Amino acid sequence: MLKSDSEKLEKIVSLAKRRGFIFPGSEIYGGLAGIYDYGPLGVELRHNIKQYFWNKFISEREDVYGMSAAILMPERVWEASGHTEQFSDPLVECELCHARIREDLLDAIKEHEDMHTKKKEKTKWSEPKVFNLLVETKLGASQDSATKVYLRGEITQGVHVNFKNILDSMHPKIPFGIGQIGKAFRNEITPRDFLFRQREFEQMELQYYIRPDEEEGKKMFEYWKEFAFNWYLNLGFKKENLRLRAHASDERAHYAKDAWDIEYNAPFGGWKEAWGIHHRGDWDLKRHNEYSGKDLSYFDEEKKERYIPWDIECSGGVDRAVLFVLLEAYSEDELGGETRSYLKLAKHLAPIQVAVFPLLKNKPDLISKARDVHALIKKQIPSTEFDDNGNIGKRYRRQDEIGTPQCVTIDFQTLDDNTVTVRDRDTGNQERVGVSELVSFLTK
Ligand code: ATP
Repeated sequence: MLKSDSEKLEKIVSLAKRRGFIFPGSEIYGGLAGIYDYGPLGVELRHNIKQYFWNKFISEREDVYGMSAAILMPERVWEASGHTEQFSDPLVECELCHARIREDLLDAIKEHEDMHTKKKEKTKWSEPKVFNLLVETKLGASQDSATKVYLRGEITQGVHVNFKNILDSMHPKIPFGIGQIGKAFRNEITPRDFLFRQREFEQMELQYYIRPDEEEGKKMFEYWKEFAFNWYLNLGFKKENLRLRAHASDERAHYAKDAWDIEYNAPFGGWKEAWGIHHRGDWDLKRHNEYSGKDLSYFDEEKKERYIPWDIECSGGVDRAVLFVLLEAYSEDELGGETRSYLKLAKHLAPIQVAVFPLLKNKPDLISKARDVHALIKKQIPSTEFDDNGNIGKRYRRQDEIGTPQCVTIDFQTLDDNTVTVRDRDTGNQERVGVSELVSFLTK
């Protein structure tokens, strides 16, 4: 059983590797700090989260377009957005071992000091210094002609630089949004807490363009705050484990008129940012207008005026959502006299929706019937798995641990009356269901 909350993160890291969700990046070569690879089940879980974002923020709405911008962008974009100047964290440096830690990460600072104290050393910290977080590379074959480019530090700018293209090709009416999902890169000084702070990660974002008007701005900001919070809640969180928190004015990014975070009560150090809702005003479009020399204004037919719209942004980390969903779902209980651990994942996120087993693995008629039932379900529910490895208890344990909501077992009675057992992950209860009603039972 879990001894403490902080043990939960270790259990998730270990489960994620053992069961094929997430591995340390390039592990056989010793790995890279802050870089992770997704295995077969992790990639499905991540895909389901992204799909849910895409459905709710983009596909199901008439006022939002999707797009996908490139990762590499010229230096000038980041000058315009203010990142080369401002995208930096003040760090303090340990004068004993030269480790650098963000000045505001008090837990990490204390942990570092404790580490030295244990060795009977006393730490001294330097004055805070600023380091740029953008990851830079060169584009072009020869060293002399190669151009400096940046791997985007946020996916946001890819949308703003395409604002005019979207206007000219789609002719949207304000208010409208542009959403996208994609990788971002940051030279985080202290990557830590598994997927929480990585150097390569994925974001899902919406930029929602509105009339430049204080009342409209307030109304839309409230709308998206609530929308994003409810969306996050539907990933399967208990309400008490999520909260909305306003940024203090000294905490806000350089562009923000107002900023709130959705935070998760994480078992490593309490409330942590999961998602940001930012009122970016006209900061980005105005700057790109100025730096590119291209007119990024919008003509409002209704009001007969031309203006640079304001932007309300919803910005979430995909990997942080994966991590928080796993932490929230991780459960332990007693079932049939044994302790079991399982992932209580929301049904729409589970990597495997249904697992189908023959009761025994060396009985050809059971296997053949189980194969037929598997094929029947898979036609309707593609993420259905067939499993005949090991004994049935072991198979249930594996499916519990990867969060499969329902397991279907084909036994000797199936051969007589065409019924199967359906076992529920959370209660362990089994019900007999006729094969003809099986798919509707599983999808209800
Ligand atoms: P933090 O204060 O935790 O560094 P941030 O305020 O810099 O985050 P934003 O720039 O607002 O983050 O990015 C939007 C979202 O992207 C965050 O809410 C988070 O979910 C995710 N994110 C940001 N940095 C990282 C990272 N290093 N690793 C994983 N996800 C990240």
